[in-house]
Amino acid sequence: MRVLIVEDDELLAAGLMRVLEQSGYAVDRAGNGEQADAMLSVDNYDLVVLDIGLPGIDGFAVLKRLRSRNQSCPVMILTARDDVADKVRGLDSGADDYLVKPFALNEFEARLRALVRRSSLVNTSQLACGDLMLDTVARRAWVGDAELSLTAREWSVLEYLLLRQGQVLSKEKILQAVCNWDENISPNAIEVYMSRLRVKLEPAGVNIRTIRGFGYLLESGDVRQPA
Ligand code: CA
Repeated sequence: MRVLIVEDDELLAAGLMRVLEQSGYAVDRAGNGEQADAMLSVDNYDLVVLDIGLPGIDGFAVLKRLRSRNQSCPVMILTARDDVADKVRGLDSGADDYLVKPFALNEFEARLRALVRRSSLVNTSQLACGDLMLDTVARRAWVGDAELSLTAREWSVLEYLLLRQGQVLSKEKILQAVCNWDENISPNAIEVYMSRLRVKLEPAGVNIRTIRGFGYLLESGDVRQPA
């Protein structure tokens, strides 16, 4: 999951980034509205965390421009003002959720997870395919009863594939979803992650199929009919 945090408060931004990076999100940060608008217009994010009170153009303006480009990524607004009018204005401008500062980090994370689920049409924190199960809250994975050990990056790639089962995903799209701007990872690295994941997923009866020229498709070799 690729997240943009738009927040001018350095300390708060650093704290949010740390929490999200630990949870395996690829995180970028913008410190003002213009920068956020520029980043959002050239890149696709899975989630945007948007402070309302920003230097220059404010969060409402950033949100308005985002939606006017028909970008539908979920947006959570952060507001210091416990003001009903601000919340209403934010939601009416196309925000999907809001948090009033100060907030608890675990609530912040839980709300982001809920936004991801809603936007991916997956309404559970447990993602499954074949005998593979990923618990996105506990951040643990199992093949049947055996816990599966994954690196942070393998986790991010696998979670992305699981949230989009049945879709062919290009290398570039996967790369964009799991890396932030500061990371220089070549598309070939994705091939490496895929081959490592294939080995780990084999006992689960899960395959990552390469669709030549298009990308990857996660599929279960399970031929049982759904109950
Ligand atoms: Ca602010």
